[in-house]
Amino acid sequence: MLLGPPGAGKGTQAERLIAQYKIAQLSTGVMLRAAAMAGTVLGRKVKAIIARGDLVPDDVVIGLIAEAIDLSTVKTGFVLDGFPRTVSQAIALDNLLNNRGLAIDAVIELKMDEAALLNRIETRAAKNRSDGQSVREDDDPSILIQRIKNYKVQTAPLSDYYGKVGLLIPIDGMQPIDVVESNIKKALQKLHCSTT
Ligand code: ADP
Repeated sequence: MLLGPPGAGKGTQAERLIAQYKIAQLSTGVMLRAAAMAGTVLGRKVKAIIARGDLVPDDVVIGLIAEAIDLSTVKTGFVLDGFPRTVSQAIALDNLLNNRGLAIDAVIELKMDEAALLNRIETRAAKNRSDGQSVREDDDPSILIQRIKNYKVQTAPLSDYYGKVGLLIPIDGMQPIDVVESNIKKALQKLHCSTT
């Protein structure tokens, strides 16, 4: 599982992990943006919530994750990226996994300073603009502040939740991408050695 504030690089690191370990990436952000694009009634509601930087209701994301976990393509394992984001999502995940005889191997927390976060997202938006790529509506600075606030209140308590059960691995998310990647892989390697 990848945990960390918006802009911490969860998506980037998730892509590298799935390439190396040949596992699936389960990203609720990607799933929700796809739902929003589809323009269904639910999709339109989701789109409005994302655009204002708030969290989509727990039951919606829990439903999406449950469906994704049951797809045969994820049988070899998966990286959770952007889920869970609340303690109730974490409890629902525990139940989902227990019922299927699955368990979380590790929770990688990408640690970032708030100033670095703002900086990074602004750079991402500016780069996309100059490349003529679309800029995520929710990367607007005022919305980003809301996302960070929601992160602190709703998601940050998950560090404790996973720390208490010994799953948490903090990683400095402010290092260059390749360094973060290699630090994550080293930590996972150690974990593997100590459990086998
Ligand atoms: P980031 O990690 O940069 O915030 P994501 O792509 O993970 O971006 O999420 C984008 C938005 O999608 C969030 O701000 C939120 O509105 C919604 N979202 C994603 N995952 C969840 C979740 N697990 N629970 C509730 N809302 C979510």
